[in-house]
Amino acid sequence: MIINDITVGYQDTKVIENLTLKVGKAEFCAIIGPNGAGKSTLLKSLIGYIPLQNGKIEIDGKNISEWNKKKLAQRISLIPQDFQLQFDHKVRDLILMGRFPYLGYWESYSKKDYEIIEKIIDQLDLQDMAGKKFSQLSGGERQRVAIARALAQEASTILMDEAFSHLDLNHQIEIMQLLSKINKEQKKRIILVSHNLNLACEYCDRVIMLKKGKLIADGNPNEVVTKENIKKLFGADLLIVKHPISGKPNIIYPESSKE
Ligand code: ADP
Repeated sequence: MIINDITVGYQDTKVIENLTLKVGKAEFCAIIGPNGAGKSTLLKSLIGYIPLQNGKIEIDGKNISEWNKKKLAQRISLIPQDFQLQFDHKVRDLILMGRFPYLGYWESYSKKDYEIIEKIIDQLDLQDMAGKKFSQLSGGERQRVAIARALAQEASTILMDEAFSHLDLNHQIEIMQLLSKINKEQKKRIILVSHNLNLACEYCDRVIMLKKGKLIADGNPNEVVTKENIKKLFGADLLIVKHPISGKPNIIYPESSKE
C-alpha cells in the first residue's frame, strides 16, 4: 500500500498534510499519537470514506479511487472504533455480512460464503456465541466478532481503530495475540491505531507516530519508541526500559513523587 503525499481533512480544514508512507504486505503496524492527531481520519481515508484533498493512495497497484466500492472492500477492511449496529443481529449473521462485497446484484449468500464464515467461527473459537445476539456479548467478545467479520471480507489489508481501553488487560492481550496470529499465518497487512503503547511495541513490527497530522517517527519499536520521541509525541517525560524477556521498549509511568 502506497500513501503518497496525502492531504485529508473536513470541509476546508486540513487534518493530515503531505503524509507519505509505504506499508508492505504482511506488515503489522501500529499508529500511535495523541487525541486529535488524525489517526482515525487517516484510516477512514484509506478506505476511501473521506476524500483526499491532495495526493493518492494505491492498493494492489491501483489508486483506491479507481476501485469500485465492492472491489475495494475485497482488498481492505476497516474495523471502526465504534463498531455499532443499527439492528441487534445475531453473531453468525453479522459475520456473514463480511461477505457482502462478494455478492452480485440480487444474489444471496452462497454455500461457499457459509463455509467461509463457519471456518472463521471455528478459527476464532466463536462457536459458543455464534447464535447469540451482538448486544449479549462482552466488550472483548464484540471485538473478536468485529475481527471475524473483517476476516470474512477476505481483504489482504485490515485496518483497526482500537477500542481496547474499556477491555480488561487479559482481553487486550488476547486481541493483540489474535491480530498477530492473523498477521503471521495469513500474511495480512494490519494497520492498528493503538492506545496501548507497550502492547503495540510488543506485537507490532513497526510503529508510526503521528501528531497534528504529521509524521514524527516511523520504524521498528526499538528504533522509534525512545524517550525523545515519546516526549515529542505526547509532551510527557516517561522512562523507557527494555522488556526483560522480549527486549522491546516498555514505557514506565513517572513516579508519584515527581511534580
Ligand atoms: P485521532 O483519531 O488521532 O484522535 P481524529 O482523526 O479523530 O484524531 O481527528 C482529527 C481532527 O479532525 C480533530 O481535530 C477532530 O476534531 C477533527 N474531526 C474528526 N472528525 C471530524 C468530522 N467528521 N468533521 C469535522 N472534523 C472532524
